[in-house]
Amino acid sequence: MSKDNIGWNLVNEAEKREIMAFSEQYKSFINEVRTEREAVKFFRSIAETRGYKDMPETIEAGGKYYIIKNGKAIALINLTSSPLSEFRILAAHMDSPRLDVKPSPLEEDKDSHFVLMKTHYYGGIKKYQWFSRPLSLHGIIVTKDGRKVEVKIGDNMGDPVFSIPDLLPHLSKKEQGDKKLLEGFEGEKMEILVSHIPEKDGKEEPFKKQLLSILKDRYGMEEDDFYSADLEVVPAEGPRDVGFDRALIGAYGQDDKICAYSTTMALLDSKPTGNSIVILFDKEEIGSDGNVGAQSNFLEFVLVTLLERIGAKYTYGNLLELMQRSKVISADVGAVVNPLFKNVHDLNNAGKAGNGILIMKYTGSGGKYSASEAQAELIAEIRKVLDEKRVIYQFGLLGKVDEGGGGTVARYLSSYGFSVIDMGPGLMSMHSPFELVSKIDLWSSYKAYRAILES
Ligand code: MN
Ligand code: MN
Repeated sequence: MSKDNIGWNLVNEAEKREIMAFSEQYKSFINEVRTEREAVKFFRSIAETRGYKDMPETIEAGGKYYIIKNGKAIALINLTSSPLSEFRILAAHMDSPRLDVKPSPLEEDKDSHFVLMKTHYYGGIKKYQWFSRPLSLHGIIVTKDGRKVEVKIGDNMGDPVFSIPDLLPHLSKKEQGDKKLLEGFEGEKMEILVSHIPEKDGKEEPFKKQLLSILKDRYGMEEDDFYSADLEVVPAEGPRDVGFDRALIGAYGQDDKICAYSTTMALLDSKPTGNSIVILFDKEEIGSDGNVGAQSNFLEFVLVTLLERIGAKYTYGNLLELMQRSKVISADVGAVVNPLFKNVHDLNNAGKAGNGILIMKYTGSGGKYSASEAQAELIAEIRKVLDEKRVIYQFGLLGKVDEGGGGTVARYLSSYGFSVIDMGPGLMSMHSPFELVSKIDLWSSYKAYRAILES
């Protein structure tokens, strides 16, 4: 693959139709799935239709299995042979930046006649992007008696939505205009409007009382049930094609559901030549912490479960050896050059929209801090596989040295001894409510993951 080959010049009409068709499938996924819980449900159900089973007590070569952790992380496993000596692992994350509803969220504002719901932002957002736009509410409420109530409101035309009201420009001069852009919007102010009609002639908190009666009717919940809820506020708009030529997809949550989707579809659509796992984590956006993040022992648990249930006699040393022999593709999005802000990139080492899946030798920041760097030998091997399968790909780094930085699950998984490399499609407007991807980069990512499983 030579540098700066525009991907669109490398595909014929038939392939272009395939790209557009795959994009439609992906758009329907990204429309339906806005949270990690919804992603797990989606992947579980599509895997079941392709013959994957909830991990049974005994397993065998040729089997296809899945393991779910807390409804928020999932591993899909395709065993091709036994003994289990090495794995190809594709790892991605399903969580995306958003606003979480606080445990005690409801607040009546008498002065303005509204009930607001308080939120706490999750992950790296630019707060101003979330004001004055339609928002939807997704998640679950578990009542004290153990009933699990699913909430999904705002995505469908006809559903009500929610909104954080921004200040009119006429009165913004001091309150916002005199502040630095990223400080003009405070986290504590990110409250969504949720209701406005009071209980008729109610004396005490009439607006909140009326809302609570709606919530009681609709969800059978009391105010205290918010304590045991996982509720996420996300953009209400669905995906759209962008541009006269429909070459881009704009949608919320593409970091990193685009890789969760393309790795899973790659596994389901391919005939892997070796034992393969797709593992999808939560909590990447806040540092991969917690028991469903990549820093947890979930992947280790999956491997140990496989070894035990296939009846292998192994030691801790064998497990470490298995991890050292296995390869992990850290499938996460990168950045492509934004025409309006080119100066943050070293154009020689930047991803370009349309040049295919982006391979990042390392991420991190400053003097390569917090980076897991892929070894030259592994990169050479990947180049060979992608060239053989005619996958469109490019190399790139996030931005200029010292411009900022970011990380992926690569560093956490590499600490187990796996050989790890970062590769995924590049986005523009990453972490915004409307992230952009080139359809050919989405397609190339799917093709690259498939090529690796089938090599
Ligand atoms: Mn990501
Ligand atoms: Mn991210």
